[in-house]
Amino acid sequence: MKPKRIIIIGGGTAGWMAAACLTRFLPAGWTVALVESDAIGTVGVGEATIPQIRLFNQALGIDEDEFLTATQGTIKLGIEFSDWTRPGHRYMHAFGAIGRGLGLLEFQHYWLRARAAGVAGELGAYSLNEHAARARRMQRGTLRSSPHLAEMPYAFHFDAGLYAAYLRRRAEAARAQRIEGKVADVRLDGEGGNVAGVTLDDGRQVDGDLFIDCSGFRGLLIEGALATGYDDWSHWLINDRAIAVPCAHGDTPQLPLTGATARDAGWQWRIPLRHRIGNGYVYSSHHIADEDAERILLAHLDGAPQAEPNRLRFLSGKRRKLWNRNVVALGLASGFMEPLESTSIHLVQSGISRLLKMLPTGAADPAVAAEYNRQSDFEWERIRDFIILHFKATERRDTPYWQDRAAMPIPDTLAAKIEQFRAQGLIFREHEELFTESGWLQVLVGQGIEPRAWHPLANGIGEADLAKYMAGISLMIEREVAAMQSYDDFLAATRPAAGVAA
Ligand code: FAD
Repeated sequence: MKPKRIIIIGGGTAGWMAAACLTRFLPAGWTVALVESDAIGTVGVGEATIPQIRLFNQALGIDEDEFLTATQGTIKLGIEFSDWTRPGHRYMHAFGAIGRGLGLLEFQHYWLRARAAGVAGELGAYSLNEHAARARRMQRGTLRSSPHLAEMPYAFHFDAGLYAAYLRRRAEAARAQRIEGKVADVRLDGEGGNVAGVTLDDGRQVDGDLFIDCSGFRGLLIEGALATGYDDWSHWLINDRAIAVPCAHGDTPQLPLTGATARDAGWQWRIPLRHRIGNGYVYSSHHIADEDAERILLAHLDGAPQAEPNRLRFLSGKRRKLWNRNVVALGLASGFMEPLESTSIHLVQSGISRLLKMLPTGAADPAVAAEYNRQSDFEWERIRDFIILHFKATERRDTPYWQDRAAMPIPDTLAAKIEQFRAQGLIFREHEELFTESGWLQVLVGQGIEPRAWHPLANGIGEADLAKYMAGISLMIEREVAAMQSYDDFLAATRPAAGVAA
């Protein structure tokens, strides 16, 4: 088994995540080189994550406090959706479980019945993370009193540029070779059509066995050289532009939440970092002009803008094959879905771990690549459905954008999920799909889908016991949250030393 030379093209978040991870796990003799161009730069956005990022950092042996300090990182307990169902309405998709099931049955059936009987609060009353986020509290490690709650799930907001720089330092320390230069040409070998190497604009040649395309939207290898093709999902995910701008913190206290506020022709994100807030308006160019979108974004900032607005264009969808010949695409080179549920960095992470599981021993085997693509397609498509749900299931009809969203056809897979929930509150997580039952539950309920009934087994408990059961869960959550550290104390304890780059 000959050691291989792996070449990563691109040094954004995706490229340096791949380099840091591969250099940590590859067997002796294998080498990793990364080509990037400072002149081209990175996309400069991508700052909200989901809890799985902690597994990635842990696998790399990263100390969490050091990481938070180096990246101006903060904590995220979930996403708050404002004005999605209707103007003035808000709900959370908080990480972690909602309530606690009894015996065979999931919590939502008891909640639906209790709510009909008038003995239950809003769904969010049964989420530990939602309570903690609103109370501005947070706890790492084992929770105080409840074996069923185990640990509190959390993710991070971080400065994307600082995260890539942090990973770069680790990757280079682990002997990843960084090659500064602009790829001018991609050379294919004669027979199999594999990529043999790239030629830089100064004539240098970089050859390898396996290539990881992290070149961003350009997709230099996967599309530019291999013409893999693209599954265009823009008929479901119509937003095709974003404007991003960081701003100073205002007077409002920091919450450990990502904000997602629906607007007339899209939605706005709000990502509170330590040193600034990341903001962006994701919108449909069919429904609003760039200048108007920029004006609306700038009118909804907490503090003064800290940079010129960054305008981005994209097409929602994914490459037909994420692994084609000897090229694996990660990050924006593999495709993009709008960042409503902060899934892109996670898809980089799961692509890397899938690649490690299927690391080719000899020449890249088509059967292995086919399995990689099958698993990736499933993961992408379920995430796609989850994102579409936010746009489809809403009462909003107040602008042409929202009227169009309500009228659009949706994938059968999503339609089936909505109907199962509407029929009797059923939610099934399929295989290893990313979002859990509680994620689906919060968004289905939050977006206003009302089940007609609940599971008949939920009637097996008397009404008084049901009320006690619901109140018991709320009480347990309140006690747990009261015992947590204040979020301000947490931020103070992990504050970057003076001089950490902003
Ligand atoms: P890039 O950052 O674009 O990096 C591409 C690299 O390729 C650069 O180093 C560039 O120099 C190099 N390159 C390109 N061409 C050449 C060449 N010819 N020669 C040499 N080098 C070259 N994800 C999340 O998880 N959470 C979020 O909140 C989130 N928000 C987002 C908001 C928006 C508007 C967008 C567009 C994306 C968002 N994402 C988010 C996605 C996230 O930004 C990306 O997944 C992540 O940054 C990875 O980007 P990348 O490394 O693939 O691409």
